[in-house]
Amino acid sequence: MSDIIQILPDNIANQIAAGEVVQRPASAVKEMLENAIDAGSTHIQLIIKDAGRTLIQVIDNGCGMSPTDARLCFERHATSKIRQAQDLFLIRTMGFRGEALASIAAVAQVELKTRRHDDEIGSCITIEGSDIKEQNECACAVGTSIAVKNLFFNVPARRNFLKTNAVEFKHIEEEFFRIALIHTNIAFTFYNNDKMIYQLMAGNMHQRITALFGNSYKERLNPVEENTQDVQIKGYICKPEFSKKTRGEQYMFVNNRFCKSYYFNNAIEKAFSDLLPEKTYPSYFINLTVDPAKIDVNIHPTKTEIKFLDEVIIYAILKSAVKKTLGQYTLSTEIEFNTVEGLDLNPAPAPRGYIPPSPTVKVNTDYNPFKSNSFSDYSSRTTNKAWENFFEMSNAVDVDERSEETSQQALFVESDKTDDHDIEINTSGVVQVLNQYIVSTMSSGLLIIDQQRAHERILYEHYSRQTIKDTASQQILFPVQCSFSAADAEIISEILPDLRDMGFEMNTLGNTVFVATAIPAEVKDSEVQTLLNEIVEDYKNSLMQKFADKQQSIALSMAKRLAVRNGKKLKQEEMQNIIAQLFSCKMPNMSPFGKKTMIIMKENDLTEKFK
Ligand code: ADP
Ligand code: MG
Repeated sequence: MSDIIQILPDNIANQIAAGEVVQRPASAVKEMLENAIDAGSTHIQLIIKDAGRTLIQVIDNGCGMSPTDARLCFERHATSKIRQAQDLFLIRTMGFRGEALASIAAVAQVELKTRRHDDEIGSCITIEGSDIKEQNECACAVGTSIAVKNLFFNVPARRNFLKTNAVEFKHIEEEFFRIALIHTNIAFTFYNNDKMIYQLMAGNMHQRITALFGNSYKERLNPVEENTQDVQIKGYICKPEFSKKTRGEQYMFVNNRFCKSYYFNNAIEKAFSDLLPEKTYPSYFINLTVDPAKIDVNIHPTKTEIKFLDEVIIYAILKSAVKKTLGQYTLSTEIEFNTVEGLDLNPAPAPRGYIPPSPTVKVNTDYNPFKSNSFSDYSSRTTNKAWENFFEMSNAVDVDERSEETSQQALFVESDKTDDHDIEINTSGVVQVLNQYIVSTMSSGLLIIDQQRAHERILYEHYSRQTIKDTASQQILFPVQCSFSAADAEIISEILPDLRDMGFEMNTLGNTVFVATAIPAEVKDSEVQTLLNEIVEDYKNSLMQKFADKQQSIALSMAKRLAVRNGKKLKQEEMQNIIAQLFSCKMPNMSPFGKKTMIIMKENDLTEKFK
């Protein structure tokens, strides 16, 4: 019998290796960005089209390559980063296996242009499925540009495995974040389908985080820093109330390389422990610097795990560093809480445990934002001790009794029906001013609430916690038909389970048409289509801005759309509902869009004004 073993031709071996290194466009993005960093670049541009399917290009201003290296870099195990086995233990570069470019070139059409600083002319290489098609001299800028076109053009099975553009884009963006967050001294520009979506100046980590996640992060971040012999810790944690429902915002780096460590993650979560709202995860951005000889990164090329020699010690140091930061932070919030402790909503106390009934449903078809929410819904969700005390106080307000009383005794001190800005004062002590602010007295002064922002907060927390079990949904008599563009219909299908959790019962009717048979209690039949359009629009934007959490995005849209507007006159019990529900929220003092919901004018402030 003849021999049956054959050595695989290079291009097939490369394709197999590619399967490990390049699983999706995002993996190529990661490798190419890492190479640009290893090349000492100070500015890196990432350009993608169709979520990387048709183009991934990285342009850097790094060291560039010689004409020979330009060809060699596509060979397997071609690397400039290790020369001997011992080097493996001193690795400080991102890549070192010399597999990435060979793998990418095996499954795409690649165009490389590169020039070193001291070379007058650069080189240009075109390579397709591992075959070099062309190599020429060319005029080009110092640095390297690698364009990867039509990824998986020769591996249809892999191409078919790719998810929607939205999903693939999110993976790419995540890789970009993991790199940009830690290489803050490098400027980055990111173009998606010819649109610039990120432009990041060189700076520090704080600036980088806010450039990527938005300015609202400025007030969320608290620094963590610790220097010991075993490890240097540097980074930020987000305040506990900004923790997320998914682990999306947990960025741990070791020696400037993103890494996942369940063990160290646990150290951080333990440090937060009871400060975290239920089923949420802290956000953090932390870099650990350790002696490279004491870690092993020589594992699978795409894995982000690292093995540590001193992990028990590092665990303890990390936990205590985070605890220290949190300790300083909780101290300052306790002071904040104390300032509202003297809040006195009403002089007439009701028995403890009293649960105010839901306001009666109005016959009038005007939207009534309060029709289905009872205080008990909210009170059961309150976890924060300080607000719990506070809620007990506000709970002691017998809304029903009082509103009946006040409706009879309402005293219009000043009333001008033609004027929008009338001030209605009545005996309960809660008034609406300018049809926008709810004003109540407190023992230490005045509480002024912005009605729209407060209601946004209430609805946002309501919808972020919805699950299929406690959904307040209403069947509708005549099912509402909604139609969408093909792309939007795809998104509706994607978020359908979350919409169901929030009380929408919807089914498809053809590809782009959906029929709603039940909707959340707060929604009117006539606004279903508009609401869904807005949810889709916001969701698309949130994908762009890295809001990984679908439910959160939808909850935000619902809160924005359904909250009572400023300018709407509120009834006594509506105002009291807002106050009570607001203070049983986890984060009563801020709208979900980061705006103040209330201000408190204390005695000092008032005295000051009268000077
Ligand atoms: P590795 O990064 O593991 O060495 P790669 O396949 O990613 O392997 O790259 C192979 C080699 O090509 C690198 O070692 C480096 O010498 C060179 N190279 C790749 N990208 C660049 C770049 N953007 N600038 C300069 N040299 C590069
Ligand atoms: Mg590399």
